[in-house]
Amino acid sequence: MNKKSQTESPGLHNTRKRYAAERSKRSESDRRYVRLSSISWARSKDHVNRAPCTDAVDVTIIGAGIGGLVLGALLRQTGSVQRIRLVDEAPEVGGTWAVNDFPGLECDVESFIYLPLLEQTGTVPDYKYVSGENILDHCKSVARRFRLYDDALLSTRVTAAEWNCADRVWNIKTDAGDSFTSRFVCSAIGSLSIPKMPDIPGIESFMGHSFHANRWDYDYTGGTGGRELSNLTNKTVAVIGTGATAVQVIPKIADAAQRLLVIQRTPAVVLPKPNPATDERWYESLPSGWQSERRDNFHRVTSGGTVHNDLVDDGWTTIAAPLAASLLRSAVDGDRTDAEVLDLRTMEKIRDGIDIAVDDPKTADALKPYYRLFCKRPTFHSSYYETFNRANTELIDTSGRGVDRIDARGPVVNGTVHPVDCIIYATGFESELTTPYTARAGIEFTGRDGRRLSDWWADGVRTFHGVISHGFPNLFFMAKSQSGLHVNVPHMLEAVAEHISFMVEEAVANDALVEPTQRAESAWVQEISTSAPRDLEFAQSCTPGLFNNEGDPERSPRQNSSYGKGSIAFLELLEHWRNSGDKSDVGLSN
Ligand code: NDP
Repeated sequence: MNKKSQTESPGLHNTRKRYAAERSKRSESDRRYVRLSSISWARSKDHVNRAPCTDAVDVTIIGAGIGGLVLGALLRQTGSVQRIRLVDEAPEVGGTWAVNDFPGLECDVESFIYLPLLEQTGTVPDYKYVSGENILDHCKSVARRFRLYDDALLSTRVTAAEWNCADRVWNIKTDAGDSFTSRFVCSAIGSLSIPKMPDIPGIESFMGHSFHANRWDYDYTGGTGGRELSNLTNKTVAVIGTGATAVQVIPKIADAAQRLLVIQRTPAVVLPKPNPATDERWYESLPSGWQSERRDNFHRVTSGGTVHNDLVDDGWTTIAAPLAASLLRSAVDGDRTDAEVLDLRTMEKIRDGIDIAVDDPKTADALKPYYRLFCKRPTFHSSYYETFNRANTELIDTSGRGVDRIDARGPVVNGTVHPVDCIIYATGFESELTTPYTARAGIEFTGRDGRRLSDWWADGVRTFHGVISHGFPNLFFMAKSQSGLHVNVPHMLEAVAEHISFMVEEAVANDALVEPTQRAESAWVQEISTSAPRDLEFAQSCTPGLFNNEGDPERSPRQNSSYGKGSIAFLELLEHWRNSGDKSDVGLSN
């Protein structure tokens, strides 16, 4: 008997059938979404009460999230440039952590590897996983430590950036009337910033209150900074969506609301997240360079590599990582069965755990995910499932179909209207797969000879190493497309920031412009297209979601993918390029 027939059990066959059946429940109409201008920025933007800037800076960083802050900090450390200007629409630095402040917000990646520049700032994370508020505080301390507030323009949106060939600078305009020049520009706009509202019929006819979870309305719910949502005590609330945001929000609303209805289309995978307080003595004993070592260790484990000692030792490294390793092995030896069997065993354990956690067997069954683990991003919470044992919390399972419609009283599911006071949409974000870059940025970049980025990238992203594009001198990108993708996003951002900082330093030293040749760019686009992580068979077998472009992985250009040989190989490639002598492919040869 060969290996394949030994392992392809009837269990595997039945599971495949079950997964396919679950996938097919999702209909075409579910995938549409609308942009409602009224929710694009639920909290009114702070009035910008200052004179417009008409000065000249060395570097403008569009986006003051972790990527922008880390780049600013590295540039400050190298000393190659003086005036660094962060511009952000939010009133504070921190990016996603400044904009998102929903109750229960925590990062599910370990704080010691997630928070950037811990050794330089002296921040001590309180817990293994810290709250959004703590992350925001840390972002502010990075901005203070590296004097990034000095030239920052907050509550300000860049509206246009145009290359001025004669003066070799970018002309930048903002919605606050600023018009200044900048020698270098980096677009660090983040990837999940535009809330996605489902196009549910009747959505605007609802007579109660509604908002998107990622633009939380504390005026309505009451309570900020971890306090109880006191205005909800006499309210019935519906949450639509059960992704990473909803998983954190739902237990908090259940604590506060009179009644909570959780409207589920596809159940999430929710792994436990024990969260011990930081042992300060341990933290103080860590040797210099510990953060980089810990990050590399996590990176290796979660990329399918082996390490002597799993330093982070959490759900990512012990549950998700073995599956990542088996998928990698199957890509090499061509036999996918082992990976599928391991996946099945893992998912069975997760489903068994739901039976133990949830008292009502019908609810437990409805909460069970029937797809392979990496079809969706796993989520983490230690009391999500138990929330459904509360008398005030009810799961409304749409069995993959979503909400039928919304009427004046509330959501209608399977023909039954559920009257509620408030609907909270935890329905995710537009992504690089659904929305072209310039549309997400809301900026037109006009490069050499009037070339518009929206035209140059009309058929897909075009970069060299994900960071620079032909026709756009001294313009850098920090994005997922054509770059390295890994769950510890700040690790990748810091590596890319180091790369950009290197190029800025070289350009300043050589009085040169950084711009890839068309040939170098085309070669990278080709490399991305051929190496793209498109296990189409896998992606197509998944229930629709963020990762497989809502069930249609072929819909977005292959070149918009990340580097297919993995994030470790990507970082090695960048380092090798920096250490190699010839930089003529980006105009830095002399
Ligand atoms: P997701 O896209 O992960 O989840 C959206 C949810 O809304 C899904 O459950 C989806 O169902 C549901 N949904 C969408 N449209 C409808 C509809 N018409 N009817 C019913 N349900 C619908 O968004 P999140 O905001 O939860 O998370 C996005 C990302 O943000 C994560 O992947 C993660 O990268 C990041 N994040 C990270 C956190 C962290 O701790 N690091 C915390 C929170 C978010 P379906 O599954 O069927 O599509």
